[in-house]
Amino acid sequence: MKQKSIAIFILVVLISITVACSNEDSPDGLSNGREMQSNQSADTLYQQPPPSHKQDDEQELTDTVIPGETPDISDTPEATPSPTPEAVHTPEQDSGRIVIAIDPGHQRRGNYTQERIGPGTTQTKPMVSSGTSGVATKVPEYELTLEISLQLRDELIARGYEVFMIRESHDVNISNRTRAEMAAEAGANIFIRIHANGSDDSSANGILTISPTFHTPFIPDLYSRCNMLAQCVLDEMIEATGAKNRGIWETDSMTGINWSTIPVTIVELGFMTNPAEDRLMQTPEYQQKLVEGIANGIDLFFIVDVVVD
Ligand SMILES: [Zn+2]
Repeated sequence: MKQKSIAIFILVVLISITVACSNEDSPDGLSNGREMQSNQSADTLYQQPPPSHKQDDEQELTDTVIPGETPDISDTPEATPSPTPEAVHTPEQDSGRIVIAIDPGHQRRGNYTQERIGPGTTQTKPMVSSGTSGVATKVPEYELTLEISLQLRDELIARGYEVFMIRESHDVNISNRTRAEMAAEAGANIFIRIHANGSDDSSANGILTISPTFHTPFIPDLYSRCNMLAQCVLDEMIEATGAKNRGIWETDSMTGINWSTIPVTIVELGFMTNPAEDRLMQTPEYQQKLVEGIANGIDLFFIVDVVVD
């Protein structure tokens, strides 16, 4: 009897979380499409302060038109008796050490040496590009991504996570493959890659996240968790910012995703080629919403991940 009640409870929790985490919206097509990476250097591991979970608020490419979407959350729940959602999942109580690797997309100078886009393929892409830039503000993408990433670092540390930064300077040369490897070597639980979008259509706007496809030949075992991470972060960012929801872009063309050995997503903060969104992304108020949205999505991911893992 008791076991049955527990099972029902877990089922209810799982369903509510799944619903909360799978707000689907179809992106209209153009997404972004390129990301880059290159080779080694800066990194920092931050210690986590006493846990203090709060459960409420918190990319790379440019060009290329590809549809995106297709959320999916699946897996098997594990029976863990506990009377309240809090008891089941707050990040800080699991191990006391959840490490988030943050990759501020791009760098001051691109490195166009080719590297393989994933294990077991001969297909290549440039190691890392310098990214797009603000059509109105002229701010380069690599500056925006680092600015947001540093704020995200601070927010995550305040929430009790440890953070590993792929870079904290613009003058690095770290390929996308290397970025993925650095995140795993740092012992990170998940890998969050921060980018901003670009399009030939100056009216294009909104947020999207990126996940591998269901048929990824590179990280098939990670598809579900990557997709869930992408969905959680996307939903919470839309909630926090009110931006247009462009959905999840599923693609196997991202080097820094394909070489990852931990759940990974790319966050496309908005379109730097849209004058209004470009300006908006330079305001402290909107940056704060972006950061809160991402952090809330990470919180949510670990809630769901604990339940289904
Ligand atoms: Zn980018």
